[in-house]
Amino acid sequence: MMFKSIIVANRGEIACRIIRTCKEMGIRSIAVYSEADRNALFVQMADDALCIGPAEARLSYLNTEAILNAARESGAEALHPGYGFLSENAEFAAACMGAGITFIGPDSEAIRLMGSKIEAKKIARLAGVSVVPGYDGEDQSPGTLATEAAKITPPLIIKASAGGGGRGMRRVDQQGDFLTALQSAQKEALAAFGSDAVLLEKYIERPRHIEVQVLCDSHGTVLHLHERDCSVQRNHQKVIEEAPAPDLDPATRQRLTDSALKLAKAINYTSAGTVEFILDRDSGEIYFLEMNTRLQVEHPVTEMITGIDLVEQQIRIASGEALAMTQEQIEVRGWAIEARVAAEDPAQGYMPQTGTISVYEPPSGPGVRCDSGVTRGSSITPWYDSMITKVIGFGADREEARRTLLSALDDYRLGGVGHNLAFLYDITDHPTFGDADIDTTFLDRAFPDGWSAGEDMISLRQKAVAAWLSHRPVSPSPWQTLGSWRLTAQQTSDAGYVYVRENDEAPVEVQIAHHGDTSDVRILSDGQIFVTAGRARNHVFEILLPEQVLLADRKPTSNPDDPGIRAPMPGLISEIRMEPGDQVHAGDTVVVLEAMKLMQNLAAPVSGTVTAVHCDAGETVNGHDLLVDITPDLTETES
Ligand code: ADP
Ligand code: ADP
Ligand code: MG
Repeated sequence: MMFKSIIVANRGEIACRIIRTCKEMGIRSIAVYSEADRNALFVQMADDALCIGPAEARLSYLNTEAILNAARESGAEALHPGYGFLSENAEFAAACMGAGITFIGPDSEAIRLMGSKIEAKKIARLAGVSVVPGYDGEDQSPGTLATEAAKITPPLIIKASAGGGGRGMRRVDQQGDFLTALQSAQKEALAAFGSDAVLLEKYIERPRHIEVQVLCDSHGTVLHLHERDCSVQRNHQKVIEEAPAPDLDPATRQRLTDSALKLAKAINYTSAGTVEFILDRDSGEIYFLEMNTRLQVEHPVTEMITGIDLVEQQIRIASGEALAMTQEQIEVRGWAIEARVAAEDPAQGYMPQTGTISVYEPPSGPGVRCDSGVTRGSSITPWYDSMITKVIGFGADREEARRTLLSALDDYRLGGVGHNLAFLYDITDHPTFGDADIDTTFLDRAFPDGWSAGEDMISLRQKAVAAWLSHRPVSPSPWQTLGSWRLTAQQTSDAGYVYVRENDEAPVEVQIAHHGDTSDVRILSDGQIFVTAGRARNHVFEILLPEQVLLADRKPTSNPDDPGIRAPMPGLISEIRMEPGDQVHAGDTVVVLEAMKLMQNLAAPVSGTVTAVHCDAGETVNGHDLLVDITPDLTETES
């Protein structure tokens, strides 16, 4: 029997995505949300919504108790976990089933087996699937690990067995660096995943990440929906994904799909899952990496080329239905490329950005799909992942899909928070990407000096000011007679300048000078100014009079009178490296703050002595909170 109601234990774009399919299937959807997400899009989209706790994920989206209570209270028959959060938590899946709520995903045993990379590699090997050469034994003593590392011969990679999302990995290039790298990988693994078990693998120098989507029902049918290429990555995290994988010879493609099905059968897998591989571009060999027992972020590219709704299939499988298709019926039609839009600054180490979206006009048109979790007015808080939307371009072939994606990225009007649209545009536009010369070294090769938007911000701000001047509501006669420049100068206390602010950044002073060309500039209803410089380079500026800036709250800057360390944004204190009395050098990391899934090292602004520590590890702090006091070293400042 098909479910009448489904509770969605996730947030953001994936919650919206799941709710959409529920609507299409006539199933009542129930959202759960944290206090930080009260006004979020997915909460508005669902038929019902229940608050499950405070912003901190541990107390809401990772809180099994609260989620199961909400499921019972709402009468939900089934639960969809999305990706991330509790989606790969075997105990959670078992707890749902124990509470009489069908978990839309595989059984908890499959989740448990594949949740350990060590276990998964053993099973893959037994099933006759080739795995990356290395060590995945039980003996985790540093001595054994070091001996095994020497056998592999660097470069090698240390991975957290329970890891995910590209975390807990260390590349080692020389045997002498092994033990230090091991310690730091184990520490990160323990903090992030609650286990410090690691495995060692030969480091493949030019790998392509290729994965196979599988779909398995509870009646023994095991199908694959072809492959995706997710080789464009930064710090082992996917940025652009496409389906099918370009330039793959038929024999390799066959080996990939055969291996994926072998593994799925070996664990009696049910539901949608992804078997990940790396393809060594130098040798042409393929190796199994891991299996993700959930819906994947990049599932839309597979949906676009096969015409199959993966969420619908997951729901049907969980309700006990048999797959109503055969392998032969699953054909590849066309090409799809997805770009992950994130509130982050790719020019500054992918630093997460927060703010309120003041401009939101998603792209549309033939072949464009935009899976979004935000809209105008949405706030991007520091509590969760920075990915906010995915844009997918579809076409008859790769070049058509690429062009569709490019114009979609360029058409996207997104402002009020920093984002990576221009970065995604430049990747998609890069000739190396156009030639499909992709592997995980792509970003380093395409942007050897790092990526930057390369914009003339001075002229963009000038354009905003010019637009503001010509649209200011003023009494008509002096406007006509005196001209805008003098009039505004008068209104701004003769200052002759205004301040221009973008997002949350510090206001920048701009001299007032009239400028005729305002063609690519728009005044928004709230008075902010939208300026587009082309190639997905969009800005939303706010014009402030000097007196407004003087009155406004300034962002805390590194003030020499206050050489303490403040939290740049709300987050969780993950580590405190110093205690009162310790000597610090300017630039030394004193506190590690976890915000938006990123570990941020907060460094001492000056050299000196730590005089007080105002926070504890594990504590949640607010943005601007003073965390550590430092008394500067006089001798050093004098010299
Ligand atoms: P994949 O691309 O293989 O699905 P990722 O690791 O890139 O894997 O994406 C899944 C990750 O996204 C999860 O591990 C989780 O940390 C993060 N995540 C969880 N929930 C959300 C969400 N609602 N929006 C964006 N990202 C999320
Ligand atoms: P996670 O669980 O974090 O997704 P994976 O094992 O899937 O971990 O690896 C993530 C990424 O790290 C891969 O897509 C690839 O870019 C890189 N990687 C993993 N193993 C290797 C390896 N042995 N050699 C080179 N790169 C690797
Ligand atoms: Mg992976």
